Amino acid sequence: PPFPIALHGPVQRGFGRGGKDLGCPTANLPDESITPISTVAKTGVYYGYAQVIPPKGGKPVLRPEDTKVLPMVMSLGWNPFYKNERLTAEIHILHEFQSDFYGVEMKGLVLGYIRPELDYTSRDALIDDINVDKLVALNSLDRSEYRKFEKDPHFDLGI
Ligand code: ADP
Ligand code: MG
Repeated sequence: PPFPIALHGPVQRGFGRGGKDLGCPTANLPDESITPISTVAKTGVYYGYAQVIPPKGGKPVLRPEDTKVLPMVMSLGWNPFYKNERLTAEIHILHEFQSDFYGVEMKGLVLGYIRPELDYTSRDALIDDINVDKLVALNSLDRSEYRKFEKDPHFDLGI
């Protein structure tokens, strides 16, 4: 796929299950926002940068450090809710937020592919793999060729 792939849209509510239990909440993009990647990339786990854009007028729960350009891992996969007919893109930002940010605009810049979607026999095996994904993302983004995308004009810099 032609990386970098830019995505943006307001954070949607999902099933509200899984993510937080696994220590890995994922901010879901709305269906319309997925086209730039779903048309060119296969399902699986990707890495890149993401930014939560503070709404005009401000959202008290978002601190300045929450709205920086931050490392992320993204899962692109089939949504069982739509009988697996629709792809969803869910972004886990490698950062501790103090609260949820549903409805807030999020931007993503997808830079590389990590692995396909896998079936796990246990919850622990899944958690182990998610932790590997996070390390892969951080290691890849640490290279200067990728780090430069932190300053990409796709993001709102200087806010
Ligand atoms: P849902 O099914 O509604 O997506 P999740 O358990 O995946 O539920 O939680 C996702 C929500 O958690 C996001 O929409 C966001 O508001 C919040 N959140 C908190 N911390 C993070 C984070 N580090 N990365 C992504 N989302 C986060
Ligand atoms: Mg989610």
